[in-house]
Amino acid sequence: MRIEDVETMVLSVPTRRTIADSHNVLDRFEMVVARVHSDEGISGTGFTLTVGTGGSVIREAMEAYLKKPLLGQDPFNVKQIWNDMYWGETHWIGRAGATIMGMAALDTAIWDLMAKAVEKPLWKLLGGCRTEVPAYNTDGGWLSWSEEELISDMTRMIEEGFQGVKMKIGQKDPWADLRRVENVRRKLGSQVRLMVDVNQKWDLHTAMVFGKKLEEYDIFWLEEPLHPDDIKGHAKLARELNPPIALGEHVYNKYAFRDYMEQGAVEIVQVDVTRVGGVTEFLTVAALADSYNLPISPHAGDLMQVHQHLVCAVPNALFLEYIPWGLDLFVAPVVVRDGYLQAPQEPGASTDIKEDMIRKYRV
Ligand code: MG
Repeated sequence: MRIEDVETMVLSVPTRRTIADSHNVLDRFEMVVARVHSDEGISGTGFTLTVGTGGSVIREAMEAYLKKPLLGQDPFNVKQIWNDMYWGETHWIGRAGATIMGMAALDTAIWDLMAKAVEKPLWKLLGGCRTEVPAYNTDGGWLSWSEEELISDMTRMIEEGFQGVKMKIGQKDPWADLRRVENVRRKLGSQVRLMVDVNQKWDLHTAMVFGKKLEEYDIFWLEEPLHPDDIKGHAKLARELNPPIALGEHVYNKYAFRDYMEQGAVEIVQVDVTRVGGVTEFLTVAALADSYNLPISPHAGDLMQVHQHLVCAVPNALFLEYIPWGLDLFVAPVVVRDGYLQAPQEPGASTDIKEDMIRKYRV
């Protein structure tokens, strides 16, 4: 089998409502899509996601540089292709961000193609580990929600069976965050797993002071308290605060993850297949985490479609993050029943996008 053609495109897709965290307000997200076509008539799809802008830069990197190493190659030599992309023309202009995200879309498309070629779901091609994984829900915890909306959404999610809920914090006034967390905890009761996500907004001092105060509310994890390049700061928080430190959605390669793990600066590894260069690098990071006895809980930049396979294929998966923005887009959307992901059965990586959705959202 040879790869004959690579097609790329950008889709701009509305979220169901305008949502906000401490950094972004968004009513649309972008999907930068790669479709890899083989000479045997089988195609694979991969994609990466942005918060609404920047997709054209990623697409340009793919079109001008990253897709060349795929053409004419056997897709089953995916690791060779990954190395050729990584060490190719974009190596000198960026080993994080747009170029690695373009690689992620292409690499994922190749894995989808391989799994379809052997007629197995991706998780089985990778070696299955489990067929159910607990899911936690992030879609009820936005900063733009009123406290009433927050509490009613999260209560409904727990009743639906979700195994945890996450809320956004990181407002200008951390005391306001604290009151919100206190009220949510009181309403949800002590048994519910409650995660909080700062989205990098705090400095070390704020994180030390308010991270300590959060301990009272039995926080399941504290996510991205600081800038994602501040390994030393996160290490201090991991040493001195009770809630485990979760991060990884802005960490772009195995070397950076290794440094985090080596310094004890991350306790829940939120590697994201769409940010870390695809399935190939994701597996390396997951294995690295396993060697440090750390759980992974992937960040839902893939709209759950690829991670559902990966959490079924690695031994150290703790959770699937649930954000249901993409359920209408995909031919075979993720299935979560009573709060547990059900391992997909169709061949491939579950990345096929409906043609009418492509027509509707292509820009
Ligand atoms: Mg986050």
